[in-house]
Amino acid sequence: MDFILFQILAAVLGLVLGSFASCAAYRLALGGSVTSPARSFCPACGHTLSWRENIPLLGYLLQGGRCRFCEAKIPLRYPLTELASAGFALAAASVFGPTWHWLVAVGFGTLLLVLSLIDLETFLLPDVLTLPGAALALLASTLLPRAHTLGIGWRAALWGALAGGGGLWLLAWTYRRIRGEDGLGLGDAKLMLLVGALLGPLAVPLTLFAGAVLALPVGLVAARRSAQQGSDDGLRTALPFGPFLCAGAVAFLLAGPQFLRWWLGAALP
Ligand SMILES: [Zn+2]
Repeated sequence: MDFILFQILAAVLGLVLGSFASCAAYRLALGGSVTSPARSFCPACGHTLSWRENIPLLGYLLQGGRCRFCEAKIPLRYPLTELASAGFALAAASVFGPTWHWLVAVGFGTLLLVLSLIDLETFLLPDVLTLPGAALALLASTLLPRAHTLGIGWRAALWGALAGGGGLWLLAWTYRRIRGEDGLGLGDAKLMLLVGALLGPLAVPLTLFAGAVLALPVGLVAARRSAQQGSDDGLRTALPFGPFLCAGAVAFLLAGPQFLRWWLGAALP
């Protein structure tokens, strides 16, 4: 396929999937089903969106970021989510080319995006997404031939799932024994079960590392803000870890081996 055409297709698919992810996360976070109601609506006034208002990004821009009926502001996170999704689909397109691997990468990217949005909203990573996701990851690792970070084979997938799910479960258990309270959720362990099954055991420590590196500055800013607001929670301000783990996993999916080579090259003389 023409590479330019494929890039355009990837960007459009990314925008559409980003819009779908926002909608699915909104509905699942409210405890509803993804498919009902069948058409999207404005959360402020309930007005059903026309096909034109539903076009990702373009709909937002054409309406000046407001609902056409009640003038309520459309939250900026909707177009940002669509842009992030398109950016990922494009990056995956240049890594994998027009292959099954690209489709699998985009599918898991979208799943991780939905999980992140739900975690930000509710501090939960629903089992109904992580567990079937882990099973699909195992299937994809078994069926796909090896290419870049995907198609690692069923053995590596099982080791990865054990390292990710078991490792985080052990961390959560240890933290609870020492501190007498929950630090990590079991939702995070099930998310890493999925990540390990898709990307293998090596991805587990790197995803955790990248997640922690990304979470640290955000956590500091959040802690500072809550301190200014007079809350004495300080550093223990609740921050969902799931979105950072998802970002770390996506980074490994796209560039894990390159990062490792660079890091080892810098560490070894
Ligand atoms: Zn409205």
